[in-house]
Amino acid sequence: MPKYFYRKMLTEKYAYDTLTKIHVLVAKLRIVILGPPGSGKGTYASRLTNILGIPHISTGDMVREEIRAQTEIGRKIREYSDRGELVPDEIIIGLLIERLKKPDAQKGFILDGFPRTIGQAEALEEITSIDVVINLNVPDEIIIQRLSNRLTCRRCGAIYNRLTLKPKVDEICDICGGELYQREDDKPEVISERLKVYRRSTEPLIDYYRKRGLLKDVYCNDLMTPPDVIVNEILKIIRGQK
Ligand code: ADP
Ligand code: ZN
Repeated sequence: MPKYFYRKMLTEKYAYDTLTKIHVLVAKLRIVILGPPGSGKGTYASRLTNILGIPHISTGDMVREEIRAQTEIGRKIREYSDRGELVPDEIIIGLLIERLKKPDAQKGFILDGFPRTIGQAEALEEITSIDVVINLNVPDEIIIQRLSNRLTCRRCGAIYNRLTLKPKVDEICDICGGELYQREDDKPEVISERLKVYRRSTEPLIDYYRKRGLLKDVYCNDLMTPPDVIVNEILKIIRGQK
């Protein structure tokens, strides 16, 4: 085999695309999904991870796991999370750096919920480079409806919705049989705080990444748009068709 192809095989890999039913060549891909709470970051990222064969890294899930396991970090960050505030940069950056060192993240990743401040974006830039930033644009009315009807699996973190993405059996996860619950920060009084925090701390990242030529906008203006439609849009962007 010519050396060139051998090298190519080592650095590139094929992933099975369940939408187009073909194997697609994917180079190392480092993706950030940016968007307000309830814009669908987690839902889309969890589908993309299966299609692209790279891990879905959700700092929100990591935060909830630390809290559930009652680690020292978990005890420090619980209150921030329950109030809908951001966990301090140094703690979340520390958690993310450790996560990105794991072997599965060496072939690429989908970051969901990180970075959320300019400080976090700068820290990320120091440890790795990003190939594309998907910016989800969703009107506030949809966000509020989504979040207040969102249910999360206590065991595996899968996301459901009482209006749009119902589980097959009430209050039970389709995937793992775990119990579904309403997150503390999905309660109405906390949702508006999270939106404020997003506007103040995270929205500036849109310009930050636009200036670097990495930002790609995706729009969802209808609560009933099936997740696969948006996932397809994102795949087109990733493949450079948009
Ligand atoms: P959302 O649905 O609001 O996008 P996440 O599940 O991503 O929520 O995050 C839940 C909570 O975890 C946040 O409100 C915040 O307290 C904490 N958190 C997650 N990621 C970060 C981050 N990158 N920086 C600071 N806090 C974070
Ligand atoms: Zn589950």
